[in-house]
Amino acid sequence: MGVEVDVDHLLPQQIPPQPSRVPARTAPVRPAPVRPAPTPIKTAKEKEVQKGITEAQSLATACHTLQELKTAIEAFNGGKLKESSTNTVVYDGTVGAELLVIGEGPGRDEDQQGLPFVGPAGKLLDKMLASINRYRTTNTLITNVNYWRPPGNRNPTPEELALCSPFVERMITLAKPQLILSVGAVASGSIIRTGTPISRLRGQICDLDLNETAQFKVLPTFHPAYLLRRPQDKSKAWRDLLKAEEFLGSA
Ligand code: URA
Repeated sequence: MGVEVDVDHLLPQQIPPQPSRVPARTAPVRPAPVRPAPTPIKTAKEKEVQKGITEAQSLATACHTLQELKTAIEAFNGGKLKESSTNTVVYDGTVGAELLVIGEGPGRDEDQQGLPFVGPAGKLLDKMLASINRYRTTNTLITNVNYWRPPGNRNPTPEELALCSPFVERMITLAKPQLILSVGAVASGSIIRTGTPISRLRGQICDLDLNETAQFKVLPTFHPAYLLRRPQDKSKAWRDLLKAEEFLGSA
């Protein structure tokens, strides 16, 4: 603290100079160099995930056919999930189909057979698709947002989904579907990048812009495994399928 001076009774010329709040300028002030925003410190795990995503991006971009992409995904080091899986499950169905169905990821049956949607949920999915004349053997391609079975059938983590995402996006770009039917909250949320509950998302066709030149349409609906547990919601899923049929018929 400085010595306080009672200035009330002094003439102006007797008032001692007060320190200014603005520092005196003795030389022209140079603008401070622009510094990049500080990058948040990453943990070793985050760095590893980022390295994996970067590698996945460059591998995916180098692929120009779905077969090349499948081979690249199978050769990719998918981390712990891959280590604990029997198979890498990429896609099944018809290359060049107008409809691309995207689910969450392989379960036990899919892991054993190396194909998506071959267990009980897959059988229901096939029936749902047949109701709108869509079949994997002729006019539908089926894949997932994650290629390796999570232990105990837990949901894939955001990191696991992020690692697969460059491949998923490349698959959409190369498959060029007229419509993507995303089944369930995990697949829909991962593709559209939203946390909106599937009960609110379903039934509405959304735009998906993957880059400046590639725009796609996504129709979220319930996952068939959920419908097996809650058959009372099947009528809503059937309405979504009719919407898909109507959209594809007019596309
Ligand atoms: N559930 C999914 O989301 N995908 C599969 O491939 C199988 C079950």
